[in-house]
Amino acid sequence: MKIYLDNAATTPLAKEVFEAMTPFFLQHFGNASSQHAFGREVKATLEQCRQTIAGLLHAHPDEIIFTSGGTEADNTAILSAVEGARIKNVITTRFEHHAVLHTLQHLQKEGKITLNYIEHDQRGNLNLQHLEQLLETSEKSFVSVMHANNEIGNLNDIEKIATLCERYKAIFHTDTVQTMGHYVHNLQRVKIHYLAASAHKFHGPKGVGFLYCRRGTPLTQLLKGGGQEARLRAGTENIAGIVGLTKALELAYEHLDSHQAYIQGLKSQLINGLLNHVPHITFNGRCSDADKSLYTVLSVSLPDAGTDLLRCLDHLGIAVSGGSACSAGAASHVLSALKITPGKHTIRFSFSRFNTPHEIDQVVASLTGILQPVAA
Ligand code: PLP
Repeated sequence: MKIYLDNAATTPLAKEVFEAMTPFFLQHFGNASSQHAFGREVKATLEQCRQTIAGLLHAHPDEIIFTSGGTEADNTAILSAVEGARIKNVITTRFEHHAVLHTLQHLQKEGKITLNYIEHDQRGNLNLQHLEQLLETSEKSFVSVMHANNEIGNLNDIEKIATLCERYKAIFHTDTVQTMGHYVHNLQRVKIHYLAASAHKFHGPKGVGFLYCRRGTPLTQLLKGGGQEARLRAGTENIAGIVGLTKALELAYEHLDSHQAYIQGLKSQLINGLLNHVPHITFNGRCSDADKSLYTVLSVSLPDAGTDLLRCLDHLGIAVSGGSACSAGAASHVLSALKITPGKHTIRFSFSRFNTPHEIDQVVASLTGILQPVAA
């Protein structure tokens, strides 16, 4: 038995994506900056991809900058706000991914910014009145709030935050690494200045993503070198990756509603199965509220079973995680911010359209089997 329920860490590549990418390894291998036909052909595909992505997000093609993934996109947005727009006052949350949090904390240590955190309650609900107070009482701010948290799945109301930022003339960055390809993003309607996305979270390849930077918002080069990406991001473009990213996003948008309904069904099935079979289980953050959490993530806490649940599940062929894959082994800053009782086991289940109801039943049965001898 092999069951993969760690899709918040990474998703399997879709077959159609693989097929779209292959010719760009084998035949169309040119460098997009080359002036000859091999290069021109790749450059044309690159610009087509940019147009397709911009079209899906209601953005302009020149607002899409291809990157090596979410981390680089987040770092570039932060650098642009701090160096490019010369903003010193930064507002964020305790729940951001380390790509954001560590970057901001580093700048704070260097004395380049002051960092304020938006207050939250025990379920991770952000206090937007507090955000408004912070915006009111400080000079021009940079606000960085993720769309959905990768560990507990809480969805933040980025439309409301964007409106508040607009009111106080703040620059707004959102990390949509966990929601791109899973929710509709309309960048014409919602005034986001920077947005980060990563292909491997929606059945695209690893090592490729993009930064959206709204026209008129400063953009500072993180990687310096050649003049690629309109001199905004140096380095030969990863054409096969960009083609894969584009195909994955097209596929995601084509079937967004049906995939969402299907995956939400799997998540509900797991919630019910666990509630019926696993005593004392609790759900972290808001992940059991269908409307307020990512439909791909379910984070649960269990009383200490005196056994390493993740290892037991792994032995049975079931891949889940304790939290974020990037901080494996370290205590989770997200769970600490929620004051989840230490000593409790936390399991993050994360789903994709490739999971099945049968797999969910097997996971419930396996977990029940592991816990029973302990409870007895
Ligand atoms: N932001 C969030 C919310 C993530 O979950 C991740 C990856 O897990 C990242 C950023 C980093 O993205 P990448 O792996 O593409 O660098």
